[in-house]
Amino acid sequence: MTHVGRFAPSPTGPLHFGSIVAATGSLLAARAAGGKWLVRIEDVDEARTAPGAASEILHVLEKLGMAWDGEVVFQSARTRLYRDALESLGNFTYPCSCSRREIEGIYRGTCRNGARGEARAIRIRVENERIAFLDGIQGEFAQNLEREVGDFVLLRADGYFAYQLAVVVDDEEQGVTHVVRGADLLDSTPRQIRLQKCLGFDTPAYAHLPVAANEHGEKLSKQTQASPVEPAVPVLFRALGFLGQNPPDELLDADIPSFWNWAIANWDMEKVPKTKMIQENA
Ligand code: GLU
Repeated sequence: MTHVGRFAPSPTGPLHFGSIVAATGSLLAARAAGGKWLVRIEDVDEARTAPGAASEILHVLEKLGMAWDGEVVFQSARTRLYRDALESLGNFTYPCSCSRREIEGIYRGTCRNGARGEARAIRIRVENERIAFLDGIQGEFAQNLEREVGDFVLLRADGYFAYQLAVVVDDEEQGVTHVVRGADLLDSTPRQIRLQKCLGFDTPAYAHLPVAANEHGEKLSKQTQASPVEPAVPVLFRALGFLGQNPPDELLDADIPSFWNWAIANWDMEKVPKTKMIQENA
């Protein structure tokens, strides 16, 4: 079976250790399977895009020897694809005029039978059904979208396409077969499966890696002031250890190509800790 994986960072700031873990895990899963590894810049939400962040991310990946296949794809240049997909969803979707303040918690489908004012967003209907999948690391995961999530937004009130739609369209259009990413996205997956079904797309295999958390148990992110990484072997070594691969100490002194040779030859997804979060004290 061919394996097409991807790393899909949002260019909201420099890469931190948590993003390096996601990049490393998805790259190794692809390379160990003799497959392809794509890089996609998820800048669909242009309001959150930090100037220069995308080129800096790509520069760090290059310095770390994380060579991607093909051209880097930018979501901001692909809104046409998202619009076409949204149109093809037809009756699965409806315009919604509810404001954020009117919606508390799970959206109960207030506008399902017609928006009551100026439409602000477009939502997709969900069903009262269990959507389950077998995650390659976390095991079985299931959600009832109607009860746990509600009809969700595909086109936002501010005019941007939602992450859930863009990611599903891109993974399909790019031929992605294996999605390896952080476990913070585990509970987005049933929404993405719902979209794939409605659009007639195949569902890729999913494996959700543990995410790195700081000493307060918060996921490393720009919001939690995670520090940018130093693009050299030590951060890769640390990511490999985080992913349960037990790299030998000598690897810390290896050059980048030798590091990757060892990491690819020894990659074992079974060794990745089957947990959603790991606290890091560095
Ligand atoms: N762009 C998302 C992020 O940076 C990742 C999306 C994905 O891997 O599906 O968190």
